[in-house]
This record gives sequence, C-alpha cells and structure tokens, in this order.
Amino acid sequence: MTTASSRIETYQNLIGNKWISSSDGSTFVDEDPSRRGSTLALFPSSTVQDIAKAIDVADAAFKSWKRSALEERQRHATRFLDLLERETEALASIVARENGKTLREARAEVVSALVEGRHHVAQVSRFYGQSLPAGTQGCSGWEQFHPLGVVAIISPWNFPMNVMCRKALPALLTGNTIVFKPATFTPWSGVTMAKLFESAGFPEGVFNCVAGLGSSIGNALVDDPRVKAISFTGSTYVGKKIHERAAKNLTRTQLELGGKNALIIMPDADLKAAVDAAIIAGFACAGQWCTSTSRVLVHRDVYREVCDRLAARCEEMRVGDPMDEKTDMGPVAGTEQFTTISKAIETGLAEGARMLTGGPGKGDLERGYFIRPTVFDNVTPDHTIFREEIFGPVLAVTEFNSLDHALELANNSIYGLSSAIFTRDVDAAHRYIDRIEAGLAHINIHTGFKLPALPFGGWKDSGSGLPENSTTGLEFFIQRKAVYWKANS
Ligand code: NAP
Ligand code: MG
Repeated sequence: MTTASSRIETYQNLIGNKWISSSDGSTFVDEDPSRRGSTLALFPSSTVQDIAKAIDVADAAFKSWKRSALEERQRHATRFLDLLERETEALASIVARENGKTLREARAEVVSALVEGRHHVAQVSRFYGQSLPAGTQGCSGWEQFHPLGVVAIISPWNFPMNVMCRKALPALLTGNTIVFKPATFTPWSGVTMAKLFESAGFPEGVFNCVAGLGSSIGNALVDDPRVKAISFTGSTYVGKKIHERAAKNLTRTQLELGGKNALIIMPDADLKAAVDAAIIAGFACAGQWCTSTSRVLVHRDVYREVCDRLAARCEEMRVGDPMDEKTDMGPVAGTEQFTTISKAIETGLAEGARMLTGGPGKGDLERGYFIRPTVFDNVTPDHTIFREEIFGPVLAVTEFNSLDHALELANNSIYGLSSAIFTRDVDAAHRYIDRIEAGLAHINIHTGFKLPALPFGGWKDSGSGLPENSTTGLEFFIQRKAVYWKANS
C-alpha cells in the first residue's frame, strides 16, 4: 500500500549548505519495514556528479576549516549535540519508523550518540602529541597534528544516527571536512542528522550529505584522490571492496565490519543473568547489531536448562509495531534483510539444526518484515548458521565440555568483533580474556556493551584500521608532523 503521493515528502542532499535534488532529479523510496510496500518519504538517488560536487565544496571548505580554532570547532559540535539532546524524542521516532527498532532502543541510540559525542568534544582538548625533553641532540622538538582534508563517511542502517556521529564528530573536531553517505534503508535519519549539522552553524561545505545507492555512487566517493580517508561501517564484503579500491590512492580506511559474536556460558554462571544477556544482545534491533550475540556456547551441565530458558523467554517476547512502547522487538530493516534471514533459517533446518522456536512471522505479522525471535540448538561448527553472519534475530546454541573447547569454538570464525563469558571463576575469566580473538571481551556483560573511553573495533575479518572511540577515534583523522628546532647560537 502506498500513501497518497501528495503527502509524501521529498528530501534533498546537503551540499555546501544548500539543499538540492540529485543532478538527474531521480529519487528512491524509504519504506517503513512494518508495512510492506509503504512509502515513508522519497530521497535523492544521487549520481556521480553529485558526489563530485560534494567533494568539490568539501575540498574548498577545508582550506579555511583546517585553520579554524579548536574552540570554534568545539562550539559548533556542542551546539550540534545540544540540538540532538533537545530533539531526542523526534529523532528516536524517525529511527524507529525507518529502521524498525523499538522506540525504546531508538532513544537509547540517540542518547549513546550524545554520550559519545560529548566524550569526543571533551577529549579533543587534551589530544596533542609528544615533545622531546629540551636539549635532546642539541635541539627541541614536538609532534604536531594536522587534519587530512576531505573524509568520506559511509554508514550502515542499523545505527543510522549513532554510527555517523561517532565518525563525524571526531573528523570535524580535528579539522576535516565531510562527505557523508547514509545507508539506503535509513536515509531519513541521515538527512535529519545533516539538518542538525547545518543548524549547528558549521560553515558552508564543512558537512555534506549525499544520499543514494552505494552500488552506484560508492566507487565515485572511494576513488576520488581528494578524499583522504574513508570511515566505513558495514558488511565485510563491501568493506573489503572499499579497502582494495582505496589502496590505489593510499587512502586510509577505518573499517568496522561484520561479526559472529559468541557468548560463553560456564556451568557456574548466574544463568538468569546469562540468559538475560543472550536475549538482550540476541534480539535488540531484531538481532541487527554488529555486536549482537549470534552464537551461544553452553557447558553441557547447563545446556538443556539454558536452551529451555532461552526458548521460553523468546516466546514471551512481544513482536510488533516498533512505535508501541510495549513492543519488545520490531521488524527487520527491509525486504533484503527479511529474505536473507529467512534463507538462513531454512538452511539451518535443512542442515539438521533444531529450531526450538521462531521463524518468519505469521498472520498479522506478515504485513511487515517480521521474524520471530528464533533459537536453534544442536548447532555444530559445520553448520552454516554457526559460521556465517545472519544479522537477524537468530541464536545458534552449541554445547561444549570444557573452557578450552568453548574457546576453540568461539575462535572458530573468520570474525572477531565482540564476545562474552558468564562465569564466577576468576581463572576461567582470565583465560578467556587472554585467548579470545575479538576486539571486545565482556565478563558477565552482554556482547553489545561499550563505553566511549575504550576503543571500538574488530579483529580478523571484523575490521581494519584504527578503532573508533577512545583516542584512536580522533587519531584516525589526523596526520602527524615531527618538528625539530635548534636555537641560533
Ligand atoms: P553494507 O551493505 O556493507 O552497507 C554499508 C554502507 O555501505 C551503506 O551505506 C551502503 O550503501 C554502502 N555501500 C554499499 N556498496 C558500496 C560500495 N560499493 N562502495 C561504497 N559504499 C557502499 O552493510 P549494511 O547492510 O548497511 O550493514 C550491515 C553490516 O554492517 C553487517 O555486516 C554488520 O555487522 C555491519 N556493522 C558493523 C559495525 C561495526 O562497528 N563493526 C556496526 C554496524 C554494522 P547502500 O545502503 O546504498 O547499499
Ligand atoms: Mg527504510
């Protein structure tokens, strides 16, 4: 069902602080995932000419922005964050409507963008390099940080506001200018963020937003030699393609990619806390966090009990309208997501894993892209659902008989983003911390937890380049100059 066209808003790109349509006037539909075939709004289906124009103005703006005072950049960033805070409720409802995560989770996304943003504004004041002790080799010296130039930000749809803020604020605070491309599932969140950057008073051309299909305009953004860095969050498949192309110009990349995150439950674990964690990180955002728990590894002594508890909890979950405060889980983000997750579930069944509960939504839920919270047990490492990122509300449960066995299973993956263990055994926790091959290790905390003071990035095929947050989030966007100074005698 399509809403009457007279009521459908058409949004534009922000290029050089002007709102403009794509060069050929074409648009694409942003669909509400709760209602198949609906239209939330129309967005520019941009062309390579639009990308070139955005890079032109970002490049021109860099000449003065790079010389701006740090306090000025912080003032603009703070104004942006104040607007974000003031508009939390309106922003959350945009995220919930176009992404399908619940309103509660969408609010948490905006709040976490705010917390991370304030962290970057504060820490950039103390972000400067080393200096030599005076008189070393008869000179003094220090390192100086310089911005890179135009940077590209390419973001996914699962955290359409948070991920872009986590990249954009460090880039702007360190003196770079931006061309931002939001994901096609969530252009409304992207354009809304662009409006806030414009309202915060950033000078013309410093922040530009160009919507459109990654497959048609991505290469133009990645290949342009004036783009000095690409901060990308998305799939490992696209991340590798970008890395390959960027290498031709030695363009630096920060790639936050896929995951197949394991949560280990030891026999001495607080089982209620462990199951709560699997439910939160397994089904928040309908399992579409990059840090979602995807594999649950359970000691044989508590295996049956954990499986039963997980299935019972899933069946209690209310699946439905993300805008309803009582909903526990909304739809997945769109039609392609629905198809790939449904196929993964079919493959799980065909390969002999047992589905305890879940599967694609039936009856009233067929109006949108709903998948019920799904749990498979009897999953073994040769099953596709053990190995491949599903990126949906599906938990694969596997039995182990020792910590060594659990770690071998957890590390049996091309990915290495997040992980968790639930135990009361200090030695087991230490062995897990030492041996887990992942960028995030949690003890008695779910796999999605993170704080801005610590780095956020993956090992193995889950990422490459400097992690976000911490100080590395700023460091990605600067280049260093070593200065040596000898006084005239
Ligand atoms: P995706 O398909 O890789 O897309 C990510 C972004 O890249 C989108 O904006 C997309 O545009 C764009 N893109 C597609 N093809 C491109 C190309 N050839 N050149 C340049 N850009 C291109 O990923 P997604 O489906 O949006 O997001 C889900 C994935 O992201 C999952 O694998 C998840 O694990 C990962 N993720 C990782 C993290 C992390 O921090 N590690 C966080 C969140 C998500 P279109 O939308 O127009 O295709
Ligand atoms: Mg959408």
